[in-house]
Amino acid sequence: MREAGAVTVLTGAGISTESGIPDFRGPQGLWTRNPAAQAMFTIENYLADPEVRRRAWEMRLASPVWSAEPNRAHRALVALERAGRLRAIVTQNTDGLHQEAGSGPERVLEVHGTARWAMCTDCDDRTPMREVLPRIEAGETDPPCRDCGGVLKSATVSFGQSLDPEVLSAAIDAGRDCDLFVAIGTSLTVHPVAGLCEVALSAGARLVIVNAEPTPYDDVADALVRDPIGEALPRLVDAAALG
Ligand code: NAD
Ligand code: ZN
Repeated sequence: MREAGAVTVLTGAGISTESGIPDFRGPQGLWTRNPAAQAMFTIENYLADPEVRRRAWEMRLASPVWSAEPNRAHRALVALERAGRLRAIVTQNTDGLHQEAGSGPERVLEVHGTARWAMCTDCDDRTPMREVLPRIEAGETDPPCRDCGGVLKSATVSFGQSLDPEVLSAAIDAGRDCDLFVAIGTSLTVHPVAGLCEVALSAGARLVIVNAEPTPYDDVADALVRDPIGEALPRLVDAAALG
């Protein structure tokens, strides 16, 4: 961290667990506790089945995201940026907590989209999620797009949907352009994003993984940090005298 001029980080659900948002594959993860849930959240099922949409809207309304606050790990990345050392934050998270913490929105690449916006699956019109959720509270179970009547969904990438090619290509550039690539709180099992570790290594960067559990990239990493992310990240940034 001390030697790296440009640091790109890749964050996953593990950076937000301390903010009260459960991850998917950790010990308390949503998929770990309820494997069937994963099958439900494909784009095909969502578009075909109003019952899937009803349950998805209930989950959005009850989401911990609405009351979550950024934690010390999100803030450590803000300090890294203020020290002029952060190339980009590629995030698989959809919770918007990096921007809430104060990270520059232009440096945050949300490769799996954002839960803070709703999007029409027909006309692509976007509406803030906070304006749609009151319709659920008022009794709608499957609120249609106000422009075209199409099916509304959160602006996140579901299983079966492809990533936004512009965001993906910016993320690949950020992986290629850094001296140090730090993967934080991600099981590195979702592709193509996990492959950014390879992109960075091939371009000559060093790889550090900060995650409680093993990942498929541990063998090729230069260092592994198993400590809780909320402790480890501020310590790394302080040790490099960047805080
Ligand atoms: P994941 O659930 O597959 O992996 C999270 C990893 O973080 C686990 O290996 C776990 O051991 C580790 N971890 C959790 N808390 C930790 C802590 N405090 N300290 C150290 N390690 C910790 O998450 P992923 O790789 O990001 O993939 C999940 C997908 O689901 C993502 O693509 C994302 O789009 C989505 N998701 C997003 C959120 C969010 O926005 N906060 C939450 C859940 C899932
Ligand atoms: Zn529409």
